[in-house]
Amino acid sequence: MSTPVRIGILALQGDVREHHAALTEIGAEPVSIRRASELDSIDGIIIPGGESTTMSRLLVVLGLLEPLREALADGLPAYGSCAGMIMLARDILDTRPDAQHLDALDITVRRNAFGRQVASFETDLDIDGIDGGPMRAVFIRAPWVESSGESVQILGTVPDGPAAGRVVAVRQGDVLATSFHPEVTGDRRVHEYFVEMVRAVQGKQ
Ligand code: GLN
Repeated sequence: MSTPVRIGILALQGDVREHHAALTEIGAEPVSIRRASELDSIDGIIIPGGESTTMSRLLVVLGLLEPLREALADGLPAYGSCAGMIMLARDILDTRPDAQHLDALDITVRRNAFGRQVASFETDLDIDGIDGGPMRAVFIRAPWVESSGESVQILGTVPDGPAAGRVVAVRQGDVLATSFHPEVTGDRRVHEYFVEMVRAVQGKQ
């Protein structure tokens, strides 16, 4: 049997526990990340859903912003869900002027993009590269991808309703992001997809 991959979860704020449970269930080893030194021992990192402006502030206060940015620039595979997608982006619309981000994905995201009235909803959508039929996607005050660079693959869009066609799942190299929260459903296919990405990187080393 192969050794489990060690996946860090940025554990400053947000739905850390849910990602922890999802990773454990699929045989990966979750590691909570709260300080820069902990970045050295992981094979990939998940930035959870939560509140991006709070996460940004805590990253600065704890001296984690630059080390994490550097680790990502050095090729640490990453997956961000919801606020995590916002944190990984190159540019954020509708945020606080002092909000920081990690510049790991060549996308511009719009925060709270689905509007305040229908801020939270669920739908079934297909993700490119994930077999087994559509997946239940839970959106909670979610962002969408407003625009993206050429090297960004669009993996999923909203299938119908007022936001039909909006981009909600992307990948660029070894960085993956979804606007929705697979960690709150029992469907582990996005986590499995990410763990496979991490294994593929290890295979190349
Ligand atoms: N609206 C939140 C933000 O701006 C994201 C919401 C979420 O992660 N569920 O960070």
